[in-house]
Amino acid sequence: MATAPTITRTPIKGGSFLIEQRRPEDVFTPEDITDQHLLIRQTTKDFMEQEVLPRAKELEQKQPGLLRELLRKAAELGLCANDVPQQYGGLELDKISSVVISEEMGRNGSWATTHGAQAGIGILPIAFFGTEDQKMRYVPKLASAEWVGAYCLSESTSASDALNCKTKAVLSPDGRHYILNGAKMWITNGGIADVFVVFAKVNGEKFTAFIVERTYPGVAPGAEEHKMGIRGSSTTPLNLENVAVPVENVLGEIGKGHLIAFNILNMGRLKLGVACVGGAKYLLAEAVKWAKERDAFGRKIADFGLIKEKIGEMVIRTYAGECMSYRTAGMIDGLLEDVDQGASGPSGASKQMLEALQQYAVECSILKVMGTEILDFVTDEAVQIYGGYGFSSDYPVETAYRDQRVNSIFEGTNEINRMLIVDMLIKRSMKGELALIPAATRLMDEILGASPAEETEAEGPLSEEARILAGAKKVVLLVAGSAIQRYMQALSDEQEVIGALSNLVMDVYAMESALLRTEKGIEKTSAEACATEIDATRAYVFDAADRMEVEARRALARIAEGDMLRTQLAVLRRFLKRTPVDTIAIKRRVANRALELNRYPFA
Ligand SMILES: Cc1cc2nc3c(=O)[nH]c(=O)nc-3n(C[C@H](O)[C@H](O)[C@H](O)COP(=O)(O)OP(=O)(O)OC[C@H]3O[C@@H](n4cnc5c(N)ncnc54)[C@H](O)[C@@H]3O)c2cc1C
Repeated sequence: MATAPTITRTPIKGGSFLIEQRRPEDVFTPEDITDQHLLIRQTTKDFMEQEVLPRAKELEQKQPGLLRELLRKAAELGLCANDVPQQYGGLELDKISSVVISEEMGRNGSWATTHGAQAGIGILPIAFFGTEDQKMRYVPKLASAEWVGAYCLSESTSASDALNCKTKAVLSPDGRHYILNGAKMWITNGGIADVFVVFAKVNGEKFTAFIVERTYPGVAPGAEEHKMGIRGSSTTPLNLENVAVPVENVLGEIGKGHLIAFNILNMGRLKLGVACVGGAKYLLAEAVKWAKERDAFGRKIADFGLIKEKIGEMVIRTYAGECMSYRTAGMIDGLLEDVDQGASGPSGASKQMLEALQQYAVECSILKVMGTEILDFVTDEAVQIYGGYGFSSDYPVETAYRDQRVNSIFEGTNEINRMLIVDMLIKRSMKGELALIPAATRLMDEILGASPAEETEAEGPLSEEARILAGAKKVVLLVAGSAIQRYMQALSDEQEVIGALSNLVMDVYAMESALLRTEKGIEKTSAEACATEIDATRAYVFDAADRMEVEARRALARIAEGDMLRTQLAVLRRFLKRTPVDTIAIKRRVANRALELNRYPFA
């Protein structure tokens, strides 16, 4: 813990991690959190332990009034408006604070979803895009949770494809209202919300956001959905029949609703990814305690190698997720450091906040996909460690297993986010904002021997991992360059190649985030003090290199053939050349540390 973060605040371009080298001092790590962040963590933790976790069963049974009561209590502690400027009732905290809050809230899926819909996609469209009048009318009431908010983008026939919505808005003859007709679906907080941000098409054409109050005649939330998981959260359709919405409640510009819809989702993705990392830490602790108590064949199951392997891997993946979470939030804070949060108008704080989120949209999508898939893995293994008890609703891992399934579906499915990652990188490159194409060209010269390869001269206990990372970045350029050259505009029809490329990009971000954090820790303390962090980083990097080799080979075999393919495969092997390390021993050591501490062993 530091009183001021030890980080150099040079603006970093989103996606540039693929082509630039970062130093440990460039990244924010959990060890850089300040006293204020620690206080926020403790407040959120106490809230979860005193108010939410003891009432998990009541939540699950949808006890009337409970969600509102919990939202009010969270708001009294300032936990519903941390991203909101002070003059509208918020705390205007940095994004590291948001990460800390989301991580702790992630310990209960139903609650995390309810809170996320209020503090994120509920308030932020109005706080970021509203007029002064709209902000004054709605944001303070949402910040205090006197009112509950909801975000209504999806419909029964369009959710991934949200711009294709059927809900229609037509200006009334007197020009004072838009008349909304249609039906939204899957609305979190739908059953309890007072204010809905609804997306509709003006005259069936111009995609636009509206602020709709529950009391407007014609607004009718439907019945609660019967869900596989997060049963304690409210999810309903929202029917709109001739709803007269005052023209003052158009949010943003007519026809520019997509800017609101997608920018807000960047924030949602960041927070969801982080909440999943928090959930993973919580479940890991539960699984570790169980493994130490449960006997089989005259021993504790924690003694078995296959159980240790699970625990070790759960820790290692969670570590990578945690490193990416703090690094990403730190970069966003880096861009916002000099912003006057209270400023309004076209160049105000909200605009800069959105620009910062947009700048790191690739990293937010990575965090969403990786965070949700890390939790997938951890939850599944937690159930396995519990054995038959994991299948019983008397134990928390059963609920968590059902709850986590939705995470890869909402906030943009993981398929959509995988495609977005590659699409955004290529578009930025085409626009000249990110030098991916020149980097790929240089790499081709290097492959053909026209210019000698730059060798990474890393030192220290993780020098081999740094060398593998440098090669892994080249693998991304190799596959991306070959795919663009081969398919050009038709690349969008090659979704499997895009998926593989996306997996490569994500593993590079994860490897580098873990490596930089561990190196920073070693610089601050010593290699001995960071022994478990070194183990976790080493295992992640070597396993990721194995995964990357398989993914790249699969993609290249689609892209090229004959001699060209043979050359590319030889280059691939050279880039990822490594002597295997004993990851079995490493994972045993990592597991032993978690077992010793009864929890996730870092931070
Ligand atoms: C519990 C819950 C809460 C939710 N809360 C909200 C909320 O508060 N507000 C809101 O607006 N929405 C909400 N949603 C909706 C959610 O965002 C959508 O369900 C999600 O975006 C997926 O859309 P869909 O269900 O129509 O699936 P579809 O779009 O039909 O997708 C089905 C499958 O096809 C894949 N697919 C779709 N398009 C493509 C493509 N182009 N290429 C490759 N694969 C593709 C998807 O990845 C998925 O695997 C919620 C959903 C749930 C389940």
